[in-house]
Amino acid sequence: MKKMFIGGRWMAAQDERTIPVVAPESGETFDRISRGGAHEVDLAVKAARSALAGPWGRMTATERGRVLMKIGQAVLDHADELAQIEARDTGKPMTTARNDITVLARYFEFYGSAADKVHGEVIPFVGGHHVSLLREPLGVTAHIIPWNYPAQMVGRTVAPALAMGNAAVLKPAEDTSLSALRIAEIAAAAGLPDGALNVVTGLGEEVGAALAAHPGIDFVSFTGSNEVGTLVQQAAARRPVKCVLELGGKSPQIVFADADLDRAVPIIVRAIVQNAGQTCTAGSRLLVQQEVYDQVVGRIAEAFAKVRVGTPEMDLDCGPVMNPAQLARVKRYIDAARNSGIPVLAEGRIAEGVPAAGFYVKPTLFGPVPRDNALAREEVFGPVLAALPFTDEADAIALANSTEYGLLAAVWTENGARQQRVAKAVQAGQVFVNCYGAGGGVELPFGGTKRSGHGREKGLLALEELSTTKTLVQYHG
Ligand code: NAD
Repeated sequence: MKKMFIGGRWMAAQDERTIPVVAPESGETFDRISRGGAHEVDLAVKAARSALAGPWGRMTATERGRVLMKIGQAVLDHADELAQIEARDTGKPMTTARNDITVLARYFEFYGSAADKVHGEVIPFVGGHHVSLLREPLGVTAHIIPWNYPAQMVGRTVAPALAMGNAAVLKPAEDTSLSALRIAEIAAAAGLPDGALNVVTGLGEEVGAALAAHPGIDFVSFTGSNEVGTLVQQAAARRPVKCVLELGGKSPQIVFADADLDRAVPIIVRAIVQNAGQTCTAGSRLLVQQEVYDQVVGRIAEAFAKVRVGTPEMDLDCGPVMNPAQLARVKRYIDAARNSGIPVLAEGRIAEGVPAAGFYVKPTLFGPVPRDNALAREEVFGPVLAALPFTDEADAIALANSTEYGLLAAVWTENGARQQRVAKAVQAGQVFVNCYGAGGGVELPFGGTKRSGHGREKGLLALEELSTTKTLVQYHG
């Protein structure tokens, strides 16, 4: 049984309640985590506040950066162990889990080395005055994260918070809390002072809701579904504190007739099957210019049919989905599309020998999908790709922008002017040209437009989100 990490100490829930930890590859329970609640959230927020008043709050930016760099190195030193934990908890292939841990380390390295490079400004003002703009931490930051990239998400949201001198309270998803707990332990051993990072495990409606509404927090970062994101923003607004939301997506791959298909095809397939499609940035809509539609979709179908699904140890193209609810959700979309007569162009295969009670689903390519069909508009969060034809550039842009989301987009064309025009017209937080950036990309500012959320994570912009400014005006005559 895993306890929570609060104020540098392991702590069980006050009422000793626990939640089973289930392996998606087999459906078997292999551990338990603590089911915390409002009481433990309160302890964690107080521990974070104490850390700000203690050694952590007194560290210089250089010292903080050094601690973060040490955490990054410690993550690399424990990479195999962390990858095993992550693969078992999420079901993802070992190669993906290992990559996730490398990215986790990169977040600590990147923000560790940036910690002392965020400088203030001197602002020219009326005579006799000196004006400086100081950058300061927000205080106690709350971080509520989802189950698809648990370890990466810790790095993405917590590392910049710590770099700027905040103290963090982290609530991992109830399905996948193990890596966050181990990372907190590794960080403490690497020199992170008590209370700078606290991990409270439990259910979303208990721990997550209590954290978002806690009067002692100064900021909330939430990554997850639109429904819960709205609740979190409402709770933050009542305080009111700043809130960054990273929500869903329905990202288009826009393929023009002149695209380099040898390059595009494997990247497009990977962008929807990686992590079993449970990636907010999954390229889940394949928009193809009408005159090459059959050719492009034919080639994607050929590659798609070769996709293999298996256990983490089999280390194939993708693993199971996260839990029975997710399995039911993905199957519901697949069945609804089939029942409405949308052609199945290709299916991947589930490897022989996977445990029968695991949460496996066949990756499926549908097309042509009618523009008003759910598959063309809603986030499945599974390995399901919807192909749709478009006529010309204007139609491609209109179609790309026709969902409520705006997270990522990719443009595949050799025409440089068209690359520029389409990239500018597409509503998305990131646009990739002749490449696709799902996952990783620690250096690249990331976040949504429209219903995909607001605020930016990753890159140096995250440091602005996780800090505030103080304008200091001194009269010197
Ligand atoms: P979710 O919204 O159900 O859960 C996310 C987190 O919120 C979990 O830790 C959960 O315990 C917590 N939570 C649940 N109810 C809560 C409540 N009432 N108050 C506070 N917290 C609560 O999402 P999920 O099912 O874990 O993840 C899937 C969704 O996340 C997808 O829609 C996906 O697109 C999105 N996502 C977005 C990004 C991004 O960066 N934009 C990244 C990963 C996932």
